Amino acid sequence: MNALEIKDLHINIGDKPIVKGLTLTVRKGEVHAIMGPNGTGKSTLAKAIAGHPDYEITAGSVLLDGRNILEMDPDERARAGLFLAFQYPCEIPGVSIANFLRAAVQARLPEGEEIDATAYYKRLYSKMDALKIDRKFTSRSVNEGFSGGEKKRCEILQMAMLEPAYSVMDETDSGLDIDALKIVAEGVNALRGPKLGVLLITHYQRLLDYIVPDFVHVMWDGRIVKSGDKSLALELEAKGYDWVKELVEPATAAK
Ligand code: ADP
Ligand code: MG
Repeated sequence: MNALEIKDLHINIGDKPIVKGLTLTVRKGEVHAIMGPNGTGKSTLAKAIAGHPDYEITAGSVLLDGRNILEMDPDERARAGLFLAFQYPCEIPGVSIANFLRAAVQARLPEGEEIDATAYYKRLYSKMDALKIDRKFTSRSVNEGFSGGEKKRCEILQMAMLEPAYSVMDETDSGLDIDALKIVAEGVNALRGPKLGVLLITHYQRLLDYIVPDFVHVMWDGRIVKSGDKSLALELEAKGYDWVKELVEPATAAK
């Protein structure tokens, strides 16, 4: 199937189970949002899918267009078409954005094929213009001294340059003011289309005013406990996460 298929996934950090049986299928062309309170395992899910070594998959599977990516190294997963936008993008002092992206794009080319520098810069600049990123940023070190909004725009720029088949975006809205949020949303909306599946992780409904998802899932204590369309996000915003808690743990809530 042309999809990112997560089946009954269980993830531990050390001995502690964090994700406890999560099943979700993101087809190409679809945008799925996962909403959930802090500490529920959203970032754990994102990082484990990307192959972070601290996160141990104890059960379940993740297939990308039918291929088991859990057996692949993180770079193989990226080449297979997976992209992760970090909640907290790290700074890479001494590595310019231009060189970083060039290396990333080069790494995706078939063995022996060289990137065409002129075409690369042309593409980079057009993507930067679209995302309203100043061209002088190309010579700055990746994320070093960037504001929250600039870091998130830089994540979207990477996504735009790498053209993944599936993008997992972990709280790309966190720390953004409304103008930065709109630019990020415009960037994602511009990349949206039949060749891309998006898993959008967010704590707040606000981002979903700008990136309207096809499906919304509510995550609670390491599982998806409710799924629906975009109206579920509005319901959640109105009723709060206590409402979900009552759905999941009625006995506790009644006490
Ligand atoms: P969310 O993104 O939904 O806020 P996280 O996936 O970041 O949640 O965290 C889920 C749980 O796992 C939390 O209890 C958190 O404290 C714990 N956790 C996350 N990362 C680590 C880590 N590297 N080491 C230990 N515990 C962690
Ligand atoms: Mg998180």
